[in-house]
Amino acid sequence: MYWLKKLFGSKNCYVCGQKASQPQKYLDDKGKIVYVCYKCVPYAERRALRKP
Ligand SMILES: [Zn+2]
Repeated sequence: MYWLKKLFGSKNCYVCGQKASQPQKYLDDKGKIVYVCYKCVPYAERRALRKP
């Protein structure tokens, strides 16, 4: 079931859309949990994403 894992198992960065390495959990403005890769964390902070 590799494709399933590929569909649901990987976390894509909310900011850059790439596969997030060392993903950090954030909440978007709707309160939905999103993941942000470590490179985009400063951007996420600027976008006022909240920590859950
Ligand atoms: Zn990113």
